[in-house]
Parts: sequence; C-alpha cells; structure tokens
Amino acid sequence: MNEMQFLQSRFGEYYKSYQPPIAHVEQREFGFGGWEKKIEFRHLAFKSPDELRQRLAREKPLYVSYSAAYYEFPDARPMPKKNWLGADLIFDLDAELHSCAPFICPECLEKIKAQTLKLVEDFLIPDFGFSKSEMIINFSGNRGYHVHVHSPAVYSLGRDERREIVNYIAGANLDVVSFFGYERDGQYMGPIEAEKSKASLRFFGPMPTDGGYAGKFAREMIRRARENPESLKEISTKLKKPAELEKFISGIERGNWDAIGISKREEKFKAIFDSVAVRLPEHVDANVTFDTSKLLRLPKSIHGGTGMACVLVNDFAAFDPMRDAVVFGGQPVSVKTVQQVPAIEMKNQSFGPYADSQTISVPEFFAIYLICKRAAVLA
Ligand SMILES: [Zn+2]
Repeated sequence: MNEMQFLQSRFGEYYKSYQPPIAHVEQREFGFGGWEKKIEFRHLAFKSPDELRQRLAREKPLYVSYSAAYYEFPDARPMPKKNWLGADLIFDLDAELHSCAPFICPECLEKIKAQTLKLVEDFLIPDFGFSKSEMIINFSGNRGYHVHVHSPAVYSLGRDERREIVNYIAGANLDVVSFFGYERDGQYMGPIEAEKSKASLRFFGPMPTDGGYAGKFAREMIRRARENPESLKEISTKLKKPAELEKFISGIERGNWDAIGISKREEKFKAIFDSVAVRLPEHVDANVTFDTSKLLRLPKSIHGGTGMACVLVNDFAAFDPMRDAVVFGGQPVSVKTVQQVPAIEMKNQSFGPYADSQTISVPEFFAIYLICKRAAVLA
C-alpha cells in the first residue's frame, strides 16, 4: 500500500457518514483533487447531499471543493453555460507566511483567529447587518478560516460590489489624516497638515459613537488606553501617568484627541489606525470573495494537505484547530520521516521534534498529518 492508497482508505471511511453543511447542493459546482493537484476535476454536480456523500465515499478524493456560486446547470461547460444564479459572500483568511511553514505554530493560528473574529464581530455584524445565523465559519483545514455569508441580500452581488465590500473591510485607500481636522466655532477649517500652526483652532477627531472606521478607530484607541497603556508609549510618555491617561481617554470620548498635547500625532496614530482593518489576501487572483466562479474547500471535508477536517466553528473562543479539526483515531501507525519535523501539539498530545529518516510509531491522526504534509512515508 502506498501513501495515496493509505490516505484514500482512511478518507473513504470518513466520507461514509459525511453530511454536507451547505444549502442547495444541487446548484453547486464541485471539484475533486488528488495527490498531485488540489483540483484535478471540476464541473461536477450532484442531485442531492446523499449522491455527493456516496460519490465521496467511492472516489475518496484528497481534496473536495465547491462553488460559492449557485448555477442552473452546475456541470455545464464552458462557464457561461452554467447560468449563474447568484453566490454566497465568502472570505478566505489565511495565516501569513512564517518560518513555521509547512507546519503551523500556535502564534500563527492565534493571529488568524483574531483576524477572523474581527471580520465577523467588527464588520459583518455591525457594519453590514448580517446575523450569526446567516454565516458559517469553518476552519480551512490548514492555515486559516473561511467565512460564508449565505443571505439572499448577497446572492446577486456582482464582482465590483464584492470588491467594494473587500476594500471597505481591508481599509483600502483610507488615510488616518482624513479623520482629523481643525475647527473654529463649529466650522471645519482644514486638515492637520495645512493648519498645523494655527494654535487658535480646535483640533478634533473621531468619537467612539461615530459609525464606520471613525468609531472603530476611537474605540480601539480607548480600548488600548484602558487595557494595555504600555502599547501607547510611542504616542506620548505622558500616558504613563494615570491622570494624563484618563484625560486622554475622556478627551477622545468627546472627539478631542489633543487633551494632553501630542507632537506628530498623525504619524503616531497611524499604526493603531492600521490595526483596525482586517488583513485580507491582497492578490486579486487569489481572492475568492470577488471571483464568484472560484471553488473553495467544502465545509466538513478533509484537507489533503493536513488530513484535518474543515470543521465548522461554533464557539470561536474555545476553538483549537489542532484539537477540534482532528477526525482520525489513535491506532498506532509506523511512519518514517523524510525531513526534520518540529515539536507539534495535536489532539492534546505532544509529538517530536524528529530527525530526518527517523522511524516512529505514532497515532493514526498524526501519521496522516505527517504523510499529508509530505514529511513522512509509511514505514
Ligand atoms: Zn508561525
């Protein structure tokens, strides 16, 4: 038995009881992939969730993708013949490249989880008015999360409209300077740069009760001042004094960002402002949000690059992918490493580090992970 056959036998078992957690299976396009390519076949269609399950259990693909789009004829080709009916709104958040690759470290997982939470809690719910019941959040199976919004309000959005949503969430083209200005007797007198020297004018900035980015920015500044004043030491050394810190906070609450007098404000505020937006993938081609014909990993399917499942996330705070996305059992399997493997925590057990060419007996879920990562072969 080679590695591909071993993985397929295990994946096939898993798919015997698979239930797709997506609506309108019959209107989706599917793609299957194997050892060489993540999508080897596409333009596949299934009349029911049951037909999909049976096919998965029989063909045992290493990767399963589906379209966020709904089509009248999902298996027709070329693409225009499918007759596009609409699409869910999808966000694909992946951990940035880091020295831990091809494995993933807890810090990278924490960072991407925080970005995903920010997207949902600070943008999709308050700014766009989506409810939690209109969203599915799933672990991507590897290095990130997918957020699917399945609301009739988004189905018909075209590429340009989806791009606008992404630009808003990523804070594209926003300049921190534009949130500040000077006024005299309630009248706007110009931005910071132009009016710097005019001491008689009143400096104003966003208030926590403002909508959009202005409010997010003010709330984030106040949150940091309260929870982590140390992180504001670059802004002013005065903030070390509790009385000055209080003055700074109560100033921002009224839209006065100059209560304690800060030099080079706009430069110093920028770093905080930049942390308010969500980091979304910049490469246009890679962005599944506005490419409405792109296929993405099917929720609850297995990711062939890790052997972990794209499980749904219900309780984000408690979710740990290295524990909760592990679906295979603990029966011992002998494998031989083909590269160095760092220490890895999986399903509350510690493994490694291992040297290259080391033969080890490990639980099946970890053997599958190493084989999927191409870090080990069957021994
Ligand atoms: Zn990392």
